[in-house]
Amino acid sequence: GYLGNDGQTLAFEESLKYKDQIKRDGIIQFLNLYKKFKNITYKETIKNIVYEKYLPIHWGDEVEAHIVFLDKESKVPKIVPDIHYLFQRVQQDQQEEPEDVNFKLVPEYGGWMIETTPSNPYYTINNLCAVPTNLSERSHKINSYLNSGQKVLYTSTFPILGQIDQKYYYIPQAQNNEHLNQVTQSLFIDDRIISDHPRFPTLSSNIRTRRQEKVNIRVPIFKDKQTNIEVSQYNPDPDFIYMDAMAFGMGSSCIQTTFSAKNLSHARRLYDQMSIISPLFLAMTASSPIFRGKLAAIDTRWDVIAASVDCRSPEERNPSSSKYIPKSRYDSISFYISDEKRNLPQYNDLKFPLNEEIMNFAREKSKEMGLELDENYIRHLGFLYIRDPLVLFEKKLNVDNEKETLHFENIQSTNWNSVRLKPPPSMDSKIGWRTEFRTMECQITNDENAAFMLLSHIFVRLFYQSDSLNFYIPITKVDINFQRAKQVDAITTQKFFFRTNIHEDGEPIIEELTLHEIFFGKSQVFDGLYQYASQVWESMMQEIFGSNGNNDKTEFEKVWNFIRQRTSGQKFTVARWIRNFVKSHPEYKQDSEITNSIAYDLIEAITSISEGKTQDPNFTPIF
Ligand code: ADP
Ligand code: MG
Ligand code: MG
Ligand code: MG
Ligand code: MG
Repeated sequence: GYLGNDGQTLAFEESLKYKDQIKRDGIIQFLNLYKKFKNITYKETIKNIVYEKYLPIHWGDEVEAHIVFLDKESKVPKIVPDIHYLFQRVQQDQQEEPEDVNFKLVPEYGGWMIETTPSNPYYTINNLCAVPTNLSERSHKINSYLNSGQKVLYTSTFPILGQIDQKYYYIPQAQNNEHLNQVTQSLFIDDRIISDHPRFPTLSSNIRTRRQEKVNIRVPIFKDKQTNIEVSQYNPDPDFIYMDAMAFGMGSSCIQTTFSAKNLSHARRLYDQMSIISPLFLAMTASSPIFRGKLAAIDTRWDVIAASVDCRSPEERNPSSSKYIPKSRYDSISFYISDEKRNLPQYNDLKFPLNEEIMNFAREKSKEMGLELDENYIRHLGFLYIRDPLVLFEKKLNVDNEKETLHFENIQSTNWNSVRLKPPPSMDSKIGWRTEFRTMECQITNDENAAFMLLSHIFVRLFYQSDSLNFYIPITKVDINFQRAKQVDAITTQKFFFRTNIHEDGEPIIEELTLHEIFFGKSQVFDGLYQYASQVWESMMQEIFGSNGNNDKTEFEKVWNFIRQRTSGQKFTVARWIRNFVKSHPEYKQDSEITNSIAYDLIEAITSISEGKTQDPNFTPIF
């Protein structure tokens, strides 16, 4: 185990003794939450905000990023694996000048990583630019805290993470060439680059123990003219980039958005509808063309992060075993959960195992508690609970199920899915039911990140406004969309399954459309979501602000113009831009290899665009 404030974490074998109790306690804790909050409406949770004609939506973002050091001497870019100092500086400022700090900072898996959120959620409709403003203030502030020479790298992956020469990080107390890997047993990753909060090493080693071997991540390599991978322990298969540690996935950066719903039923509707468009956002935000110093034949982090935390036992991974589970605990959702009639049973067409025992327990307990929990929700619990707890603290094994939600959150927060239904965070919470949107990859500029966050907000707003917008297609088609979303240049080259009769319930009419067609229409087939969104937005603005209150239409149009440029190929995705940068680099030998100095120049170019010091036609200001 690893020592934290709540004592040691339990090694996986030890945790098995408690897992059944922890799982049942988690269900009881959820039912207590459900009992208390099932009828709560959003209006009750926003009493302190004045609203007249429209309901504001509380929502917020999360931005993950890498802290790097561009070492001019060696021309090797380095991650900065110990950024405690940064947390201390932010904390100090938050205490001394809280007005000046408009964000919260939390640690991430990588010791060199940060996650920021706005200090207060956004809520109004007439100032979409609050988001780019908040992001850019956040960036400036963080830059001002950084030690000299360090920079924030906003993009999904640190390109040479795991490079065999191990020059990409610096541990002050390390001995020569020493490689510590007790936690991961990785050939590539040194334990000391993982965050030292006990949760992170425990996750890493317990995933490995449950799996009965270290994780096995294989990404198809991009075959260039001179690509010739020599087989070795580091490259067991010449067609794939091999990675063997959680850091390769959890060390990548994404952006997420979380939205308050009107009530539980509405949160469930948002969950389903947003899950259907989540692979489209993955394709649009693709920013991961390089892994472990090699060009990949895919553009996104999704499969890598799924494999990096794949804790399934050998049986659970074996398709011919009765215990087979088709996906890692990090992946797309496998069931729709809405309680609306138009969530037709045939949409849940994925064969996927459930924890029947927990479902029975939830049925019995809810009856005992006088709750009517519907079968769709029970199935959602059965879906979450096919997983075991991974991190248990010795002093937190027994908690008061009436007051705490720890054991429920344990399972909930390690089901890393495309969307997440978030119950109120605690029994005495003032926050209601929320839905989180989780597939987007981190972009280079604040404006791009803001545009995608705002686009997700616009969709949520449409689902607030109109009950008739219906994206349902069979969930297996959504999974095929995920497969397509990761492909190189998916944004312009792939077609995605999409429902075109979006204003009807009942049977879907499904077409295969490009992203540009989905958003901007295809003649005779589909009008495009932009047209619909634009109409709704305009009438909403008219209604709320009257004829002179159309200011925000301009921000709305700015978001869509950007989406138009991206989906038409007029502006490159981050992934495409990185590929082109590498291919035109004088040191690139058309062999798929990202040398340290190519990575150095790449990161210098990216951070310079992020900071607004270099202009690039693909990343011009949006707002
Ligand atoms: P997690 O890591 O569990 O997803 P975070 O705390 O990192 O959660 O992020 C939660 C997000 O939800 C933040 O962007 C925050 O601004 C936002 N948020 C806070 N309060 C509310 C609320 N009442 N409704 C919706 N979103 C909220
Ligand atoms: Mg977070
Ligand atoms: Mg988190
Ligand atoms: Mg995070
Ligand atoms: Mg989150």
